[in-house]
Amino acid sequence: MAAVNFKTLSEDEVIGFLDSIDTILTDCDGVLWMYMNPLPNAAEVINTFQSFGKRVFYITNNSTKTREEFVKKCNILNFKATKEDILCTANLSACYLQDLSFKKKVYIIGSEAIAKELEEVGISYVGVGPDPINKNIPYNTFNKDPEIGAVIVGFDEHFSYPKMVKAASYLSEPSVHFIATNTDERFPVANNVVIPGTGSLVRCIESCAERKAVVMGKPESYIADVLMKRFQVNPKRTLMIGDRHNTDILLGTRCGFKTLLVLTGITCLKDIDRWKQSDCEQTKEFIPDYYIESLGNLLPYLEKFKRKYVMSK
Ligand SMILES: [Mg+2]
Repeated sequence: MAAVNFKTLSEDEVIGFLDSIDTILTDCDGVLWMYMNPLPNAAEVINTFQSFGKRVFYITNNSTKTREEFVKKCNILNFKATKEDILCTANLSACYLQDLSFKKKVYIIGSEAIAKELEEVGISYVGVGPDPINKNIPYNTFNKDPEIGAVIVGFDEHFSYPKMVKAASYLSEPSVHFIATNTDERFPVANNVVIPGTGSLVRCIESCAERKAVVMGKPESYIADVLMKRFQVNPKRTLMIGDRHNTDILLGTRCGFKTLLVLTGITCLKDIDRWKQSDCEQTKEFIPDYYIESLGNLLPYLEKFKRKYVMSK
C-alpha cells in the first residue's frame, strides 16, 4: 500500500492500470456528489469507464433509499445506472434474509426503503414510522409477535424508547437474526451541529440487547460476498473508489481490491501521512493504493488514453 499520487503515473502505467481492472466499485456521497450536487466531471469519468467496458457498481451505506430511488438520483445527476448496478444497504439487508430462505416477519427500526426492499423479495415486516411513548401502557405489557424472526436496524429519525424495548425484547430470543445496515456513527458535521448516524442507533440496540449485529455495509465484507456470488466479480481485477478510509478503503483492503482515495470528502492527505508513520497495523489498512484530488480529475487521463486504450482492446 503506497498511496501513489495518480498524477505521477506514466502513460504506460495508466494503460496498465486500466487494463488491470474489469470492475469499479464507487462510493457515492463525497465521491460522485454532495447531497444533490454532482461533483465536477464525476459523471463523465464514470460514464467513460463504462464506455471502456468496465462494470460499475454504486456502493452506498445509506439505508434510506431503495435501489430504484438511487437509480433515479443517478440518472438526474447524469450517471448511467440500472437497478442491478446499485448495492445499497436496504437492499443488502433483504438479500441477506433471502439467502437464508427467511420465511418469518421482520421488525424494522429504519426507513420505508428497507420495507420496500423486503416487500420486493416477499418478506413481511412491521415497525416503520413513529412509535411514541404512551404513558398509559406499561412497557412490560408489550406482547411479542411470535412471527418476528429478524430485527433490522437502519437510519430512523423516529428512533424512540418504545422501539428500543421492542427490538431488545425480540432479540432476547437467540434465533432472531440481528441485522444492521451500517455503522457510520454520524453524518458530516455542518455548522457545528452533530447529526447522529445509523451506527449510533445500532450501538444503542446492541447495548440493550446484549448482542452484536451482523453488518451489511462497508467495511464489512458481505457486499464483497454478494458481488462475487451474484456477479462473479474477481477481487484482483476490481477497483474500489471512496472518500472515507474506515469504510471505503478498509473494505477494499480487506477484500483484496485495488483502492483509489478521492480527496473531496472525509479523508485528507494529512491522515495518510500520519498512518504511514504510525506503528499501528490497523491504520495501515486505511492507506489506499492511489489517491487523486477528485474523481473528475481522472477525466483528462481517460480522454487522453481513450483512443489508445480502445484500440489496444
Ligand atoms: Mg462517502
